[in-house]
Amino acid sequence: MLAETAPEAVAQTHVAIGAKAASKEDAIRQVGQLLVASGAADPAYVESMLAREAAANTFLGSAVAIPHGMKEDRAMVKHDAIAVLQLRGGVEWNPGQGARLVVGIAANSDSHIAILRRLTRLIQDEEKLETLISTDDAQAIVRALESDAPEPARIAATDLAQTAEWTVDYPSGLHARPGSAWVDTAKAQKARLRVRHGDDSADPRSLISLLQLGLKQGDTVIFSAEGEGARSALDALVKTARNLSAREKRDAERAEEKAATPIRGWKPTGNPEMITGVAASPGLAIGTVHVLAAEELDVPDVPVDLVTGGAQLNDALSQTRAHMKALIDDTARRLGAGDAAIFKAQADLLDDTDLITLTCQLMVEGHGVAWSWHNAVERVAGQLSALGNPVLAARAADLHDVGRRVLAEIDPALSTGSLADMPGEPTILVASDLSPSDTATLDTGRVAGIATALGGPTSHSAILARTLGLPSVVAGGARLLALAAGTTAIVDGDSGRVWIDPSADDLASARAWIADLAQKRAAEEAERGQPAITTDGMRIEVAANVNRPDQVPFAVAQGGEGVGLMRTEFLFLEAGETPDEDDQYAIYRAMIDALEGRPLIVRALDIGGDKQVPHLDLPEEENPFLGVRGARLLLRRPDLLDPQLRALYRAAKEGGDVKIMFPMITSAWELIRLRARCEEIRAELDAPQIPVGIMIEVPAAAVQARSLARHANFFSIGTNDLTQYALAIDRQNPELAGEADSLHPAVLNLIALCVEGAKEHGCWVGVCGGIAGDPFGAALLTGLGVAELSMTPRDIPAVKARLRGAGMDEMKALAARALAAAGADEVRALDTGAGE
Ligand code: PEP
Ligand code: MG
Repeated sequence: MLAETAPEAVAQTHVAIGAKAASKEDAIRQVGQLLVASGAADPAYVESMLAREAAANTFLGSAVAIPHGMKEDRAMVKHDAIAVLQLRGGVEWNPGQGARLVVGIAANSDSHIAILRRLTRLIQDEEKLETLISTDDAQAIVRALESDAPEPARIAATDLAQTAEWTVDYPSGLHARPGSAWVDTAKAQKARLRVRHGDDSADPRSLISLLQLGLKQGDTVIFSAEGEGARSALDALVKTARNLSAREKRDAERAEEKAATPIRGWKPTGNPEMITGVAASPGLAIGTVHVLAAEELDVPDVPVDLVTGGAQLNDALSQTRAHMKALIDDTARRLGAGDAAIFKAQADLLDDTDLITLTCQLMVEGHGVAWSWHNAVERVAGQLSALGNPVLAARAADLHDVGRRVLAEIDPALSTGSLADMPGEPTILVASDLSPSDTATLDTGRVAGIATALGGPTSHSAILARTLGLPSVVAGGARLLALAAGTTAIVDGDSGRVWIDPSADDLASARAWIADLAQKRAAEEAERGQPAITTDGMRIEVAANVNRPDQVPFAVAQGGEGVGLMRTEFLFLEAGETPDEDDQYAIYRAMIDALEGRPLIVRALDIGGDKQVPHLDLPEEENPFLGVRGARLLLRRPDLLDPQLRALYRAAKEGGDVKIMFPMITSAWELIRLRARCEEIRAELDAPQIPVGIMIEVPAAAVQARSLARHANFFSIGTNDLTQYALAIDRQNPELAGEADSLHPAVLNLIALCVEGAKEHGCWVGVCGGIAGDPFGAALLTGLGVAELSMTPRDIPAVKARLRGAGMDEMKALAARALAAAGADEVRALDTGAGE
């Protein structure tokens, strides 16, 4: 069946309904033939279309392909036309990509841009596309491709067939975090869904569309649905919305409590503007504001053909998605899932149909990819900011952030190199968030302090800021980003405040405070160097968790007596590629040298679970925490284990006090096999014997400590994972974060079992999980018989001070009470301050 039309349209459209094609080439030939037969092109145009396809893929997405001729063959086009092959059964266009509407284009003017614009709209509208693929009405296809009616910016404010009403009870309104959960639920439904507030309605599959409703607490919304499974889709969406209420309320309460916390430490006497965030790295810093996110980007407009542009955009989005995934994993690991959700919401923006459609539309208008993306981001972010809602303004900041990540992927020259443009004077670096690599490369000679809009106090960048000794405040919100460059600010990393434009008097008093603090720190530094000897003469080793050689001097200055945990997977996570044996050797050697004879425990790769390394392409697992992680992966991947062991033994051969530690050991046979491999490699290299220990992170290992201790030289308890596995609480679950307490008596009893089992074989026990750096936790662990504690360097002085102020007997009595407690709260209630 063939239809033809050429009224006031820009081009003629010829449609073959219910066509069949044996292959892509056959489809191109057929559609080309339609163009030829209609007199739109010379017969040779078909070959030109095939040549074009060989040079560039014309698959547009969503079952639509747009074969067209080579640019240089434009003369073969007699008049503009398009031909459509409706292939209900589809034809494979690329491996895994089937085309069901093949739109052949013959155009020697700009009219094809209009066609492409319609097509890009069409492929965003799955429902309409499906209709066109199955319709018997050729005119329906003609109309769809020839009507240029502008899409409404918003869906008309009517409801679909089934409705449900709900009143927003989120204290901060609908912001990105809950919005992103709505989007997830909506995307899982087949039915059409809509959310309406007054005269505005939104597509709940689009985060931006939802946020643009500007929903506040007390607003009534109508959810509506239509089509397959409408009722259950509606129920699911309402349930998601309702279920988030409790958490939203709790978060708002916490935020209020935080803002109401009396300020400790330095206080201004004047009344400067204050931005409250979260203390991330202690100390006071004065400087001139340099806002990273506010830098204007000059994005050149370099048009490319649409298919290349589309592919470029697609690649950039996929790569950014992969990086965001790594960032989410990393953030969840250090900060918890609550903070990782910020990045999850950011990553969702990458799939936002409004944003992508707008970008495509700018591209089909003839603009370059980077320019189109940048302008789409700016426009949407502008709309969000214009709503005057601070929560949405923060989302605009997120959008800018994500936008920049994508831009850097499209064209590395557009990555914001603005850290290099910092003014010479002491600077307060303000950013939406800083990546760990940004933070690690900061010039501490110029940056006095850091204030970020996002992030959390245990984020990798916050940990790095502490390592660098830079006062830092995180989660200060979007107001920070609006600060004018050059404004004077004081960052108070103890109270989590940023003071804007302080008076001369306040500046003078802050300077005096900083000088005072520097003196006190100097005095403490002398103390930190002292060993942690209890009042009754027992010495506890206090070491640092450090991953890189350049962090060692600081760890030592803090009183670290060695490195108790070097997490080597960070070499893989940060490098973006697998470091080879020589690279690893150089790093281990540099660590040993930096430690100048102090002990170093290198943990073999702990990949899997929450530490996903994208470039290793490991299979996806349903439950990665219960999957092939740590030692289990090492046993299956000699290509990862062997170079690491060889690098370690080569480094050890040249001297130093090095130990190897294997993560996630569950059963003795794993350790026996790993030890055997260590021995083979050691013998091959004629390297010295070095102690081999294991992490106790799995309850099975704690319970079987006695049999494991026969094969291990030492244990280091990973309380972060041990808590997760003992309490059956995913360490990334924000809902349960408050309950995942390593001081839970169940965890403490496992630690006690471990110490007891180890004793029989003369195996010493350390702890390198987070609780070791908590002064009260450290006292308890010492009471349980732990001999070594390894922690973030900044935590060392307080832990040492606590241990020096207590006696073994009191700490043992404390431990006994804790073991008998009913819950973590009861254990924490035993904390009566310094000395037990
Ligand atoms: C732990 O699990 O306590 C630990 C130290 O290892 P990581 O946090 O790297 O999993
Ligand atoms: Mg662990």
